[in-house]
Amino acid sequence: MRNLCLVFGDQLSPRIASLDHFDHQQDVIWMAEVDQEATHVWCHKKRLVLFFSAMRHFRDSLRQRDFEVSYQALTHRRSDDRGADFATILRKDIKLLRPEKIVVTQPGDYRVLNAIRDQAEASGVPLEIREDTHFLCRLQDYHDWARDRKNLVMEDFYRYQRKSQKILLDDDQQPLGGQWNFDKQNRQTFGKEGPPPVAAPRAFAPDETTREVIAMVEKRFHDHPGRADDFDYPVTSEDAEAALQDFITHRLSGFGDFQDALWTEQPFLYHSRISAVMNMHLIDPRDALDAAVSAYHAGNAPLNSVEGFVRQILGWREFIRGVYWTYMPEYIDRNALDCDEVDVPAYFWHGQTDMRCIADSMHNVIDHAYAHHIQRLMILGLFSQLLGVHPRKFHEWHMAMYADAVDWVSLPNALGMSQFGDGGVVGTKPYCASGNYVHKMSNYCKACRYDPKQAVGEQACPFTTLYWDFLDRHHDRFQKNHRMVFQIKNLERKPEQDLTAIRKAAAKLKTQ
Ligand code: SF4
Repeated sequence: MRNLCLVFGDQLSPRIASLDHFDHQQDVIWMAEVDQEATHVWCHKKRLVLFFSAMRHFRDSLRQRDFEVSYQALTHRRSDDRGADFATILRKDIKLLRPEKIVVTQPGDYRVLNAIRDQAEASGVPLEIREDTHFLCRLQDYHDWARDRKNLVMEDFYRYQRKSQKILLDDDQQPLGGQWNFDKQNRQTFGKEGPPPVAAPRAFAPDETTREVIAMVEKRFHDHPGRADDFDYPVTSEDAEAALQDFITHRLSGFGDFQDALWTEQPFLYHSRISAVMNMHLIDPRDALDAAVSAYHAGNAPLNSVEGFVRQILGWREFIRGVYWTYMPEYIDRNALDCDEVDVPAYFWHGQTDMRCIADSMHNVIDHAYAHHIQRLMILGLFSQLLGVHPRKFHEWHMAMYADAVDWVSLPNALGMSQFGDGGVVGTKPYCASGNYVHKMSNYCKACRYDPKQAVGEQACPFTTLYWDFLDRHHDRFQKNHRMVFQIKNLERKPEQDLTAIRKAAAKLKTQ
C-alpha cells in the first residue's frame, strides 16, 4: 500500500484534501467508529447517530465510486478492539496495512492531531498533514492576518474576509448597502402576539443504514442523554444540500430581524439548523454563502438577513477556528474568571427546573441535540457563567449535548465567547445580563413563577440575583472595562444592605 488516507467523522466531503491524487490501485481510505470518542464526552444519542450514520453513508458513497475503504464499524468490530481508543485502533491498522505514508487533512481536534502524530512516529511511517480546504481562510492566512495585532477583533477579520473573498461588495469594493453589518436592525422581538407561523427545518426520515445505527446507539449507549428514535437530521451531502435550500426558501428572509428573539416551544424559529452538517463538511460553506447571496440578488431575502448569515459563516466560524489553532493547547486550560471546579447544574442534563427559560431551552437540547444561537448564548451559557461554572466544564457539557459540537468550534464558542474563560480573546467583555434581558427578548418570563425584576425574595429571578452577584464578585476585574461602565455604575449605586441580601440569595442558588 502507498497511502493510508485518514478520514474523520467531521471530514465527510468528497473534496476532502486527504483524497486529492488518490491512486485507486495503491491507496486505501481509513475510517473508524471509536466508542471512546463517544464516551470520553457524554454524547447525546442524536449526536452519535448523526456521526455514525453520516460516516457509513459516506463510506458507501466512496465504495460506489471504487475507493477502497477500510472501515471499522462499532457493531462489527473485531472483538479485541472493543472499548479501544482511536490511537490503539489506528496503531493496529498501521501495523496490519503497512502503508508507505499516512495522509490526513488537518483534523478539527488538537487531541486527535497529536494522537496521529504519535502513532505515525511510533510506527516509523511518514505523515503528511494537508490543509483543510473546506474553510475559506487558510490557517497560514489567518496567522498572517493575526500577526502583530494587539487584539483579535472578529469584526476586523470579517471585513478582511469580505474583501478577500469578494462577498457582498459593490463595484468600488465597498459593502453592499453602505455598511458592513446590520446588527442593530437584527435585534427585533416578536411583540405580544408572538412569531407568525414559521416552517420548521425539513425532517429527513431515517433509511435502513440510519435505522441500524439508531438501534446500535440505543443498545450500546442506552444511558446517554437524549433520544434517537425520532432522529431526522440529514446524513448525506444531498440531504444536507436540501436542508440548506429549505432554510434559504423558508427562513432566511426572517433570520436577520429575529436572530436574537426567543419564544416558548419554538425550537428553531428562523434559524437554519445546518451547523451540524456544515461542521461535518456535508455542506461546503461556499455553497451556503452562494445560496444566501443569490437569494438576496433574486429579491428573495433582505440584505440584513443575508449579511447576518454571511457574517456567521464567513466571519465568526472562520475567526474562531483561527483562535482555536492559534491558542491551543493552552486555551483549554484558561479560566480567566478564576472559577472553581463547579460543574453545570443537574437540570442541564434533564431539564427539570421551574425556570421557564432554562426548561424550554433544555427541552430543545434534549429533544433535538440543538438549541438556537441565542438560547445557547443568552439562556444556557449566560446562566452557567453567572452561576460560576468552570468554563472547561461548560465546554465539556456543550460537546456532549449539541449535534454540531466539534472541538475547534465548541471550545472558543463555549469556553471563550459564552463563558469569558479566555479573558477576552474572542470578546472584549462577558455576555452578562439579568432576567430583564430575557424578559425583553422572549415571552418566557410571562409563564414563569419568578419575576425578572426582583433580585431577592420568594419570586426573585435567579438570573437577576446571579447577575448582580456576578458584577459584585468581579467588580474590580471589570471596573476599567469601558464596555461595562454602565453596568458597574449601576452596581455601585446599590445600597450595601441590598448587596448583602443578593450575596446571600446567590450563595443559596449555587448550592441547588
Ligand atoms: Fe428565566 Fe427569570 Fe424570566 Fe423565569 S423570570 S423565565 S427564570 S429570566
